[in-house]
Amino acid sequence: MGLNNWISVARSLLTNAPSYLIFQVTSKCNSRCLTCFNWKRIDSPEKNDLTLDEIEKISENYGRVLQLTLGGGEPFLRDDIADICLLFDKNNSVQHITIATNCLLPHKIKKVVENILLRCNLNYLKIGLSLDGIGEEHDRLRGVPGNYKKVLETYSYLTETKRKHSNLGLDISSVLSALNKDSIHTTIDTVKWQFPEIDKHAVVAVRGDAREKASKDIDAECYMNTLNYLKQANATKSKNLVARIFKALFNINSEMVYGQLKTGRLSIPCLAGQRLIVITPDGEVYPCEGLDQSIGNLREFRYQMQTVLESERAQKLIKFIRERGCSCSWECAFHASLVFNVKHYPKILYRTFFQN
Ligand code: SF4
Ligand code: SF4
Repeated sequence: MGLNNWISVARSLLTNAPSYLIFQVTSKCNSRCLTCFNWKRIDSPEKNDLTLDEIEKISENYGRVLQLTLGGGEPFLRDDIADICLLFDKNNSVQHITIATNCLLPHKIKKVVENILLRCNLNYLKIGLSLDGIGEEHDRLRGVPGNYKKVLETYSYLTETKRKHSNLGLDISSVLSALNKDSIHTTIDTVKWQFPEIDKHAVVAVRGDAREKASKDIDAECYMNTLNYLKQANATKSKNLVARIFKALFNINSEMVYGQLKTGRLSIPCLAGQRLIVITPDGEVYPCEGLDQSIGNLREFRYQMQTVLESERAQKLIKFIRERGCSCSWECAFHASLVFNVKHYPKILYRTFFQN
């Protein structure tokens, strides 16, 4: 990571705009995960996703972006995913891009990832491979026979690419739910030997309006028990500094999620709506993925995020969040609330270098 990249990171941290952007770029998905919180949008036959031209207008009117997370649906179903990355590189000096994938299109994923790495000047591109179980368990939880084999294939392709590009990171992300809590230790153990070149294995708690309601029946102790097991398995240190910072953040995050699940309260103020924002495939803007309250649609605000955020509706909601009117265990919000508050930097740095 060069000096210019670090300067760009610092500038994005100092802006007041929501420079952590979660962009659900498509409402299409070729999986049917039992823990999916977006299933109603995915199942709906009505699709009104933003076009690349519309995304260009959003990007042109948006300030600096430090972290861009592309989700969906399945982002790699869009043929213009590399173009979207390039827009944010060109217009918003984006430094980190994360793309979550169900791995069902291994060839295409490899091609697109290489395309992004060649065309964008990124600090770090992280691909998060979803994995909820081993073999048939994964296929059943994700609703697609043969999905596990595709995860292995995607991993194999991307590790080749990773050896050539030091700014490519590879994570595995597992959703912990009542449906896999009894097998999660096996999954963690298997990931360790079957996916040795990943930077991090993350386990996140099921959240939101899951397709299978029974999947939500897990408690704080089950979550923390799993996270402690995972921490031991993840003990090896990555050589990549950015990967290590992400890992430190994940570990601090996990402790905060545990606290929230146990007490129902947040340990630090949530910065969703101020430093983090969510855009849905049809341009609706939300402060987070948990509060089901849109603050406006970018199509109605001439694609200008700043104008959406200045609306009375947005300001009221941001005030409500700032005054701790709500509470949840969403990792991304904790992540943003840590990164955009300098008070937490000594702890993040300590964990990066000494306890990672
Ligand atoms: S969790 Fe992701 S991959 Fe699974 S159905 Fe939902 S959007 Fe698709
Ligand atoms: S606490 Fe949770 S629900 Fe409330 S704004 Fe933050 S992320 Fe959203």
